[in-house]
Amino acid sequence: MTDVLAVTEHRRGDVRDVSYEIATAARQLADETGGDVHLAVIGGDVDTVADQVNREGVDAIHTVDEGEEFNHDIYTQAVEQLYAELDPQFLLAPNSVNGMDYVPASAEGLDLPLVTDAVDLEYNGNLTVTREQYGGKVETTIDVAEDNAVVTIRPAEWAQAEGAGDADVQAFDADIDESQIKTAITGYEEVASGDVDISEAEFLVSIGRGIEEEENLQLIEALVEATDATLSSSRPIVDSGWLPKNRQVGQSGKVVTPDVYIAIGISGAVQHVAGMKGAETIIAINTDPNAPIMDIADYAIVDDLFDVVPPLIEEFGGTLP
Ligand code: FAD
Repeated sequence: MTDVLAVTEHRRGDVRDVSYEIATAARQLADETGGDVHLAVIGGDVDTVADQVNREGVDAIHTVDEGEEFNHDIYTQAVEQLYAELDPQFLLAPNSVNGMDYVPASAEGLDLPLVTDAVDLEYNGNLTVTREQYGGKVETTIDVAEDNAVVTIRPAEWAQAEGAGDADVQAFDADIDESQIKTAITGYEEVASGDVDISEAEFLVSIGRGIEEEENLQLIEALVEATDATLSSSRPIVDSGWLPKNRQVGQSGKVVTPDVYIAIGISGAVQHVAGMKGAETIIAINTDPNAPIMDIADYAIVDDLFDVVPPLIEEFGGTLP
């Protein structure tokens, strides 16, 4: 009863990064509870996925070969049955679209408290879960009074487990009640990735609400052209319809890892930073010296972008609009 069971996530055999992160979170927690780390792999292609998530620190992997695609009813039942069989202390799952679909139902079925969107976990006789609120401005710690709990973890908060593991992989024969399967995936439609894939770009010029008006895009496009960069943005720019969704960096956009990321008029909200904190060099242009982006910027230009960008364009041999 000191073990940690963590549910991995994949899409048709394509392992999501959060699966490796949850392995790390589970290992850290299990080191504190004094138990083992069990991973659950549910759906299709389970053996391939199990092979990939078999990393250092994982003690056992349980595969549930049921259904090809993610299915709420299969996951809910499989997780409940695995929990009942393994009797772990804590159940971890990703705070993802899939996770938030089945985890509340599993927690309810298991009659366990549920804490969502954890950014940190600590066990010292009792579980303490850290969450962020108000766009990361407030940190809340929740002391879980019960001995057992279900926690969803925020993607990209833990390092990914690395190194080949030697976990025991076992097939778990879940007894799925077909009459309880109320939903079915009838097909997938790939979202058009658009004209460019910003996650592959080495040099991104990224714009935020600081550009004020759509017509000011021309100025930024001139900089992009002069520097041979790729244009990306924060979410408000996409929400305003000024750029397509495939240009959005962040939690609900793309994760980017360029060599250089120039953030122009971007405040650095936690949801934005989640998508670009892996950039090698971050340059921020912002009038506010206290904007959160300044905390992670390697170079900061505290000035009006409309004063900074034109000379930059000229410096790179570009033409002002
Ligand atoms: P603001 O926060 O308004 O910042 C504008 C910045 O421009 C300010 O720092 C200001 O000082 C500066 N500025 C203004 N004028 C000038 C000037 N003339 N020169 C220089 N600087 C200037 N956001 C994302 O970006 N990506 C996501 O994927 C994403 N996902 C989200 C998911 C959820 C569930 C939620 C709740 C929010 C999400 N957000 C996301 C929104 C996020 O919380 C912020 O609201 C958003 O990132 C702010 O965008 P911004 O920095 O462009 O705008």
